[in-house]
Amino acid sequence: MREYLTLAQLRSYSFAKIQRLQNLRFKATCSYLLPQVPFYKHLFQAYNIDQYKLHTPEDWKKLGLPLIKKATYLERPKEFVVTPDVKNIFQNHLRYLIRQDEYQTAAALLLAFDKKERLKNYYSPKMLVFSGGTESGNPVPVLLTAQQKFDTLMSVLRMIGQMALGTMQPEKTTGMNLFPYAPHLGWHAVHHALDINADLNLCTAAGGAISTERLVQIADKTKPNIICGMSEYLRNRFLPLAIQKKITLPEQVLFVNGAQKMHEPEREKISQLAGKIGVKDAIVLDLYGASELKEALLPECQPGSGFHHVAPLSTIIRTVEAEHATKEFIDEWNFVEGKGYAASWNIDGGGTLLAGYLLGDHYEKVVNERCAHCSLNVVRIYNINRIREVEAQLKLTGVVEEKIKGTRVNLAAYRETALAIPEVKEAQVVLQRKKAQLELKYVSDKPAIARQKLTKAFAAAEMKPKLIFTTLDKIQGKKIKLEAIRIE
Ligand SMILES: [Zn+2]
Repeated sequence: MREYLTLAQLRSYSFAKIQRLQNLRFKATCSYLLPQVPFYKHLFQAYNIDQYKLHTPEDWKKLGLPLIKKATYLERPKEFVVTPDVKNIFQNHLRYLIRQDEYQTAAALLLAFDKKERLKNYYSPKMLVFSGGTESGNPVPVLLTAQQKFDTLMSVLRMIGQMALGTMQPEKTTGMNLFPYAPHLGWHAVHHALDINADLNLCTAAGGAISTERLVQIADKTKPNIICGMSEYLRNRFLPLAIQKKITLPEQVLFVNGAQKMHEPEREKISQLAGKIGVKDAIVLDLYGASELKEALLPECQPGSGFHHVAPLSTIIRTVEAEHATKEFIDEWNFVEGKGYAASWNIDGGGTLLAGYLLGDHYEKVVNERCAHCSLNVVRIYNINRIREVEAQLKLTGVVEEKIKGTRVNLAAYRETALAIPEVKEAQVVLQRKKAQLELKYVSDKPAIARQKLTKAFAAAEMKPKLIFTTLDKIQGKKIKLEAIRIE
């Protein structure tokens, strides 16, 4: 059974065909897998749902099912794992295959001598991944099966590597991983992607696993031309130290950011800093992922091309608006096209299964058009505000509503404005809830000039932030990732 579409297929299949394939998997997942997930078994009973009537995500809404909140999932992640009844596992699996027209796979399974092994691969959790916790201290755990890890994820990573390497013409590629080492999706996805796609993988890690000093030395000796890490680490630690130590890197280097939002001015800053150590052509790409989307990692194919949903058979991603929530659910909601809050349905088989899940990130623009650069017929997403920023935004709305009626303040835009100033090296937006005050903390080598420019930049802002000069150590604290937007 195919668990992913190849780049050639994503180029030649129409949007309608890809959606039909997604819906087939959705239908089979709802009919035979969700009833084996304790949480959904109870949910379907409570809402009196006939699971065979769920053919498309629209039916989820039509039949009155709610969206599940992140907090509800985090309280009991074990209840979201496919737990097949061993007695009927074989029959159920056959029905599940037939329900999605996978007759060949069903026939092959019937004739297979290693039935048990195949089913184990499909259902037994093999890998635990987390995402999101570096900022909030509340990482989201998700289980992948052997099939998902070795077959699907690796194939998706190979495709992402091909897309990213399409932007450069290297004779030989050497990859350096500068993500903090942790059981997080970031480091692992990059490590495997480099293993598969680069000629040489240096197998490094940041975040204290190897000191920045040592990493700079390694880079000087090995001349990596693919460097993956969080924008903040690249801009504030690795590249400044590399400049100080006077090392040189190849003329063309591909930088890949992940695990945090990268504003456009940050891309420019990485490129400028790299220029000081001999990189004439820095290609800076961004990548979006969340553990709840499982193998669906969304890369850019070119700077600014939007995040490409290259694994549509893993997870259905849609945008919604929420109208009413209870403690556990969003019980009144609607699909909206083009922008909105992300909701997801995993359709990738065993392990953790999240369906009708409110991811919480906000997408400013979603495009259903063939990409002009890579020709893929995949959904592309622009300008994502991560859950943490969205939460702060919502709280801010609550705080300032009385103060400034009708004004919508976009916190992420405040940070972007600050980062666009060359003298500002780093910026953090802090909302002081009690004082209903917005602060903008900035790091700079030329604080007086930075302050002057910031004052000018925010002169016309609806809500003027209080400008506070600070140091990187102070705003970063002991955390490995800067909290870009904070609520106090
Ligand atoms: Zn593209």
